[in-house]
Amino acid sequence: MHTVLELLNLTTPFFEQKGIESARLNAELLLADVLKCKRLDLYLSFDKPVKDDEVDLFRSHVKRRGLREPLQYILGYVEFYGLTFSVNKNVLIPRQETEILIETVLNSIDKETHVNIMDIGTGSGIIAVALAKHLPNAEIIAVDKSPEALVVARLNADSHNVASKITYLQNDVLALSLPIAEKQDIIVSNPPYVSLNEFHTLQKEIVIHEPDFAITDFSDGLTFYRKIIASAKDYLKEKGRMYFELGAGQSVEVRSLFELHNFSAITITKDYSNIDRVIKGELK
Ligand code: GLN
Repeated sequence: MHTVLELLNLTTPFFEQKGIESARLNAELLLADVLKCKRLDLYLSFDKPVKDDEVDLFRSHVKRRGLREPLQYILGYVEFYGLTFSVNKNVLIPRQETEILIETVLNSIDKETHVNIMDIGTGSGIIAVALAKHLPNAEIIAVDKSPEALVVARLNADSHNVASKITYLQNDVLALSLPIAEKQDIIVSNPPYVSLNEFHTLQKEIVIHEPDFAITDFSDGLTFYRKIIASAKDYLKEKGRMYFELGAGQSVEVRSLFELHNFSAITITKDYSNIDRVIKGELK
């Protein structure tokens, strides 16, 4: 029989040796998940013996995390914009920066008006769902090339009761034109913007376990901006707006792309590290 404290004390050095950041916190979060309690509740039950089947489940979690699988895939969920989303290895794990993209969209439109929105590269569907939750009259098309990602996106829309507001489209925007009936008021995208060179420098959790095509364009990082901005007039109404999340150092080039393709009223929003994180443009 192991107690809560013993399990934490055994796991923390193992994680440290595997090069995992915040080793103790990871051990606590995994054990709290197995014991179905809050992390801080563990501190009140350090001496409590843990049942065999719970120890087994914890061990299997620890083994996966030791192989640098992201915590979020093991837990199966992540918090984003105050909502809980399911995630698995078929989708990018939502990043906090993307909340700035949501905020930028919500701050720049009248929340009550009817709007058509297209989310390109929806992944787990966080952008489509968060917008659907806050815009009562939005009609959203969520596009992704990965059918497995769309399964997760649909699940997330269902669990937040917004499925009726979102239409899913399986399509590779780089390969095909999008079969949409109506031009949109808003296009929003958090595309795979990491360059191939940078991709190889990222943590093991990302490189080994997250879907590579959701992280990088296998080129200079700008492929999706070029393609989506160049075809904007086919999908966006006059005066329609386009919002992108940006990778560090990409704002100057994406701004030029916007200017080249007839966008004005370009604004840039910084993230908490003072990096240009979101760009918005309006089609003239
Ligand atoms: N739109 C999703 C997100 O922001 C997925 C993005 C992606 O796969 N690059 O998390």
